[in-house]
Amino acid sequence: MPPMADSKYQTVIGLEVHAQLLTQSKLFCGDSAAFGAAPNTHISPVTLAHPGTLPKMNEQAIALAIKLGLALQCEIEQHNYFARKNYFYPDLPKGYQVSQHTTPICKGGLVPITVEGIQRNIRLNRIHIEEDAGKSIHDQDDAYTCVDLNRAGVPLLEIVSEPDLHSPEEAYTYVAELRKLVRWLGVCDGNMEEGSLRCDANVSIRPMGSTQLGKRVEIKNLNSIRFIKKAIEHEVERLIAITESGGTIVQETRGFDAEKGTTYSMRTKEDADDYRYFPEPDLAPFAISDAFIAEVKNNMGTLPAELEQKYITDKQLTAYDAAFICADKEVMQFFEAVAQHSKHYKAVANWMQGPIKSYLNDTNSSWQDFPIGAQGIAQLVQLVADGQLNFSTAAAKLFPTLVLQPQRPPLELATELNLLQSSDTDAIEQWVTEVLDAMPDKVQEYKKGKKGLLGLFTGEVKKRSKGKADIKIVNELLLQKLN
Ligand code: ADP
Ligand code: MG
Repeated sequence: MPPMADSKYQTVIGLEVHAQLLTQSKLFCGDSAAFGAAPNTHISPVTLAHPGTLPKMNEQAIALAIKLGLALQCEIEQHNYFARKNYFYPDLPKGYQVSQHTTPICKGGLVPITVEGIQRNIRLNRIHIEEDAGKSIHDQDDAYTCVDLNRAGVPLLEIVSEPDLHSPEEAYTYVAELRKLVRWLGVCDGNMEEGSLRCDANVSIRPMGSTQLGKRVEIKNLNSIRFIKKAIEHEVERLIAITESGGTIVQETRGFDAEKGTTYSMRTKEDADDYRYFPEPDLAPFAISDAFIAEVKNNMGTLPAELEQKYITDKQLTAYDAAFICADKEVMQFFEAVAQHSKHYKAVANWMQGPIKSYLNDTNSSWQDFPIGAQGIAQLVQLVADGQLNFSTAAAKLFPTLVLQPQRPPLELATELNLLQSSDTDAIEQWVTEVLDAMPDKVQEYKKGKKGLLGLFTGEVKKRSKGKADIKIVNELLLQKLN
């Protein structure tokens, strides 16, 4: 974006994020809500909307919605009803979607984001529960569109932000934070490729300093965080170009072409769609008790932001380390398990971000699959802390062997591999003498004031000892002999 246009206009973004709830069954019947089954196998008469079938509310979906609402500081609506949102589409057997219309289960709330060091609270408008539609598949047959109704009736949360976001980076971070949180809470698996988290981005621009909202376009069904950023970037450029050339922005729904990195018009939206909302007559309005909310709250556990702070204050981790650990619940659980056996928290964090993470990347495995147990990692960390092994030897030589024989105690294996550092002063003194005897010129230079040569001597001793000499002792002995 040209810098001029950048400062002349403000970007305004509001996001609607759809998150599929991690329930076993669908919102109003017992059909499995699992992804990936053969088409049209999770379809009872309720899903197919056969006459005479009746919906039955899934209590777990309500608990999960409340859980997310509490984590985001929303107000929980205790008097709810569902409404029918009527429209015709081949993947919607009932001809209406059951949704919450005027009583979203969560109202208000905040998503804190930090972009370029600046923390901002993005206000939420609401979170409501609704059922998903089926899926139209256009690329299976030349002549026909196929419909898979497995997804029809699966519970979703629609998380609607206020138009508080002002850059593609902020939108990216907002969705990343939401995804982290829903995964952490077990509310949604956050899998954007499988569509369990998807996003519509509403984008407008306005003259810098203006408080009025400009005409918006809505980009539908963005299924990766990177695409959200790219689509908004492209859209903002397009809106600025139209405005700069004296054109008029049309309120419309657009799609994103991931291959070209551009957006295209799907339909214009001059008037609001008429969905003829009315209360769902087959589901009674329902009240959520204080006790139910309290139970959800009690089972919530520590939230990532809280835990991050705790790690910084109680465990003296850096903000960077704490953020790394708390970005993912699996990573946090891994850290917690090792921390049961080791108080060297910083070293544990380093091992996790260094050798362990590389191993997981290389073997394409998850933290849960990591072969060395918590106790083994703690022992590995301890060997380095005690100076029996330096970190680079431990990471480069012991670690690769240990992952292949994870049941072996690290000390035993290090001994067998002959990796333990020598703190045997006699042996080290011997190496030091040999090194100094071999470089009389350098020793003279050192004595004349070229103190930087100490590093060279240390390095030579290390080489002679094959990396096993304890560096602290080497330095002490070198200084003794040289001065
Ligand atoms: P709809 O239900 O028609 O999609 P809403 O009023 O519920 O419309 O708004 C949907 C989203 O669009 C919200 O996240 C809101 O913040 C955002 N939004 C509304 N107006 C604008 C605008 N002018 N620019 C950017 N985002 C907007
Ligand atoms: Mg919308």
